[in-house]
Amino acid sequence: MRFILACLFATMSFAALAQEGGDATVPLPKPRPAELSSEPAVQLPRHRPAAPPAAAPDKPVEAPDTPAEALATPDPIGPPLPPGEHTAEPAEPTAPPRIYQTACPAVLLGKVEAKALPPIEDKLCGTQSPLSVTGVLANGRMVPISGGVETDCGIASALPAWIESVDSYLKARDNTEIAEVVVGTSYMCRNVNNGSGGNLSFHAFADALDVIGFKLADGRFVTVEQGWSDAQSSEGRLLRFAHDAACAHFTTVLGPEANALHRDHLHVDLGCHGKTCTARLCE
Ligand SMILES: [Zn+2]
Repeated sequence: MRFILACLFATMSFAALAQEGGDATVPLPKPRPAELSSEPAVQLPRHRPAAPPAAAPDKPVEAPDTPAEALATPDPIGPPLPPGEHTAEPAEPTAPPRIYQTACPAVLLGKVEAKALPPIEDKLCGTQSPLSVTGVLANGRMVPISGGVETDCGIASALPAWIESVDSYLKARDNTEIAEVVVGTSYMCRNVNNGSGGNLSFHAFADALDVIGFKLADGRFVTVEQGWSDAQSSEGRLLRFAHDAACAHFTTVLGPEANALHRDHLHVDLGCHGKTCTARLCE
């Protein structure tokens, strides 16, 4: 028995000497990399060392993205932030308030050529969905409207049929047509009749229009100021037809015979007259 143990011991010693000499024929397992044996498999972030369990936070936790240990333990990699800065919340981008406006069917249908404008807010004056109107469809063509017209959808919607009736009158009676409708005041923040007191005009709500006259395809420029006085002239008849025809499309029509303030234009608006807003004022 002793002999067997001695032989076994001698064999193991010889194998160890052969390994140190580098000529061993039996491959040995390679040494394991140091990191596999000295560090855990899942490496923790180096800049967020875990706080000791007993460490109590200096301040109450204010938000999930500022844990207590981050406040209590300085960052070992980067310099510490100035006091207070690390607790600041990033500013939330605030969306601008939505502007609620309505579309105008007359524009959608191509009866009115107009561009939507931002809401007008001027003291008690203004309107939510004003339009910059540049033309209306009449007898199959777009008739330009000049003067920088700012109006609401109601006035814009009533214009095409009125302008078409005036245009049809010119075609039938004078063998010409409207080349351009010339407008004076549309939106304006003012009182009725430009008074220093009293009620606001419908101009103050972009719900009124002052038509100065009509440029015609035959070259004439028929104005209320110059053409109204002679009721028997071609211009006088045209302007009276335009005035009377407007009464079918607007609730208020005021011309030179209403008062001296309207001697040079036709005022049209869609103000409410009567308890049910069905009465009309045509002067
Ligand atoms: Zn007016």
